[in-house]
Amino acid sequence: MKKKGISKKPKPKIIPRPSHNVSRDEISRSALKVLYRLHKSGYRAFLVGGGVRDALLGLHPKDFDIATDAHPDEVRALFANCRLIGRRFRLAHIRFGREIIEVATFRAAADKAAKIPDVLHDEEGRILRDNVYGKIDEDVWRRDFTCNALYYDISDFSIWDYVSGVEDIRKRKLVMIGNPDRRLREDPVRMLRAVRFAAKLDFEIDETIAISIAKNHQLLSNVPPARLFDEFLKMFQAGNSEKTFSLLRKFDLFKMLFPETDKRIKEDDQFLKFIHAALQNTDDRIDKGQSVTPMFLLGVFLWGPVEKRAERLQVKENMSVIQALTVASYEISGLQQAHISIPRRFTMPMREMLAMQPRFEKRRGKRALRLLDHRRFRAAYDFMMLRARCSEVDTDIADFWTEVQKQTADQRRVSFAVQRQARSGKSRHPHWRRKSRVN
Ligand code: ATP
Ligand code: MG
Repeated sequence: MKKKGISKKPKPKIIPRPSHNVSRDEISRSALKVLYRLHKSGYRAFLVGGGVRDALLGLHPKDFDIATDAHPDEVRALFANCRLIGRRFRLAHIRFGREIIEVATFRAAADKAAKIPDVLHDEEGRILRDNVYGKIDEDVWRRDFTCNALYYDISDFSIWDYVSGVEDIRKRKLVMIGNPDRRLREDPVRMLRAVRFAAKLDFEIDETIAISIAKNHQLLSNVPPARLFDEFLKMFQAGNSEKTFSLLRKFDLFKMLFPETDKRIKEDDQFLKFIHAALQNTDDRIDKGQSVTPMFLLGVFLWGPVEKRAERLQVKENMSVIQALTVASYEISGLQQAHISIPRRFTMPMREMLAMQPRFEKRRGKRALRLLDHRRFRAAYDFMMLRARCSEVDTDIADFWTEVQKQTADQRRVSFAVQRQARSGKSRHPHWRRKSRVN
C-alpha cells in the first residue's frame, strides 16, 4: 500500500537506440557539438522538443532545442558563442553561423515553483516569469504537448518518455500535458501552438484541448502583441499556412488575431477566396525554396478591410482612389497593431503595395511606365496577379503587366505609348545638365 504523504517519483519509459528511429544523422552538427560538450563537462544533455518529434516522424528537423541541468551561467561559461536571452524564460542561445541552438535549463515543477517568487502569474493565471530550475522529471510537466516532451539522451542515444509521447505520435494525436484549462490559462499562446502543430504534423487535436480552446480563446487578448507577431511568423511562414488558417478559423482563434479581417471574411466570400489563393501561393513558394515576406501576407489579410474603408473615404471625404487607399491602409494597419504588433519595416512597404494597386489600371503614359521601376513593383505585381486570379482585376490588365516586364526599353515605350526622348538633351534640358556638372 502507498504510504500517505510520499508521492511516487514519475518514471520514464526509456526506449533504447535499437528500438527507435532517431539517428544522429538527423541532428545538426552544431546541436551535436553542444550536446557532447555539455555531456563531457559532466552535465545531463538531451535533445528535446521539435528535433526529437520531427525525427521520429521522419520529417527531417531543422530546429534544435536542448535541455540540460547546467544553469544558464554554466552554459555560457562553456561556449564562447553563447548569449543569454529572455527575462520571462531565461535561455542560452549558442550561435553557429546562421544556426542558433537553444539551450534551456530544466524548470522546476509547477507547484514547487508557484511558491517561489521567481515565478510570477497574472490574475488569469498566465505565467509571467518562470526561472526556477529543477530536474528532468519536473521539467517534463512544464512542456505543452506529449509529442513535444520526449528527451533524447546523448549519453546513450535512448529516448526518455514520461508522457506516452511516442504512442501519441504513432496515433498522430496532439495531447496536452496536464489539465488543458489550466495549461491554456498559464499561456494562451499554447492554443496557437496546438493549431500550428496540428497543421504541420497532420495530427488530430485531442477533444479535451478543443473544448478548452472554445472556452478560453478570449484569453489571447492578454498576450503581448509582440509575442503574437513572433507566433504569426511561425504559423504562416512554415509551409502549412493554408491549413493553419483553416484551423484557426475552425477554433475561433483567427478573429482574436485579425478581427477586422475576420469581419470582412464573414461579409464577403470573394475575400475569403482571395486569402486562400494567397496562402496556397505562399505554401507553394516555401515548398520550392523561394523566399516569402510577412508584409505580403499581412497585406493580403488587411486588404479586405482596407478596400472597404477606402471606398467610404472616397465617398465621404471625396478622396482619389490612391489617396483613399493610402489613408485606409494607414488606419487599418494602426488598428491591427493592438492585436499583433507589426514592425515598421513591414507596415511601410505593405501600405505602399496596397496603395499601388489602382496604378496597374493605367497602361498609357510615363507615369504608368515608371511603375515598372518602383521599388515595390515586384510585390505589388504579385499582389495584383493574385487579385486577377480571383477575378478582381481584368485578365488583359494582368497579361499586359506580365508582358511588358519581358520587353526591351524601346518595346515598352510603344506599349505605354510614350514618345522617345531626344538623345542629345543639350537643348531640351539645359538646367539639368548644368546641375549635374556642378555635382
Ligand atoms: P518547432 O521548433 O518545430 O516550432 P518545437 O516543439 O521545437 O517546434 P519550440 O518553440 O522550438 O517548439 O520549443 C521547444 C520546446 O519547448 C517545445 O517542444 C516544448 O516542449 C517547449 N515549449 C515551447 N514553448 C512552450 C510553451 N509555450 N509552453 C510549454 N512548453 C513550451
Ligand atoms: Mg524547436
